[in-house]
Amino acid sequence: MTNLWDTHMHTSFSGDSKTPPEEQLRSAIEKGLTGVCITDHMDLDFPPVPENPELTGDFFLFDPKKYFPAIRALAEKYRDRLTVLTGIELGLQTQAAEKNRAVIAEGGYDFVIGSIHVVDGCDPYYASWWERFPDAKQAVRHYFEVTLENIRDFPAFDALGHLDYVVRYAKDPLYRYRWEDFEDVLEAILSLLIKKGIALELNTGAFRAGLHHPNPDEGILKLYRSLGGELVTIGADAHNPLHVGLAFDRVPGILRECGFTHYAVYKKRKPEFLPLP
Ligand SMILES: [Zn+2]
Ligand SMILES: [Zn+2]
Repeated sequence: MTNLWDTHMHTSFSGDSKTPPEEQLRSAIEKGLTGVCITDHMDLDFPPVPENPELTGDFFLFDPKKYFPAIRALAEKYRDRLTVLTGIELGLQTQAAEKNRAVIAEGGYDFVIGSIHVVDGCDPYYASWWERFPDAKQAVRHYFEVTLENIRDFPAFDALGHLDYVVRYAKDPLYRYRWEDFEDVLEAILSLLIKKGIALELNTGAFRAGLHHPNPDEGILKLYRSLGGELVTIGADAHNPLHVGLAFDRVPGILRECGFTHYAVYKKRKPEFLPLP
């Protein structure tokens, strides 16, 4: 019995998921989740990817006019078994800030995750991004610096998605990520989140990739707490039913260890604090 909310998941409204929304909901019910928020990708200005020419500019866009009726109909259908909220994972890029603002203004989302998927016109998922830097450590530092800039330019979202997930894609097998190497910039990011009232997401997608820490690392969650941060959201970032609520049995322990007693679920863009089970 998981008894938690998974507030970061993808469906076939996302370019990189083929899962019909209903399958994600059924999986959430099977896994004993209390509620979910569907947060499909909306990455405006997604650049062309030389490694993947099929991935065109609209790959990570969805049509809210189709999304809302579909999700709301399912929310109604499953209302006795699972609470279903509407959300979006908005890809942040400084030059897209105005367009992102318009996306949010138009929608009736319960929850808006802001994530940095593109840095300097390239997705760090691809090796060509990492090749721009002398070493992986400098690449990761740059990712965090750009994250900080994005929050400064566009603090209009509810939770920062998977803060240190860029390390999942580091191409140097010898590189060992230590969050402490970036404590200065991370402290600036976390302080700004706190000041702006933006939540920090605990994303368990890392466990899917075989890593032993959530995104962000427990040390960053502790640092956020020590700076006065209280707003943590939880998501598995599932793109298929298998990964809904992934490793959620570990989440209450991780958060308690980091000094938290509650987590947050956003409804109509407002956080509700729920006690950790
Ligand atoms: Zn993401
Ligand atoms: Zn995601």
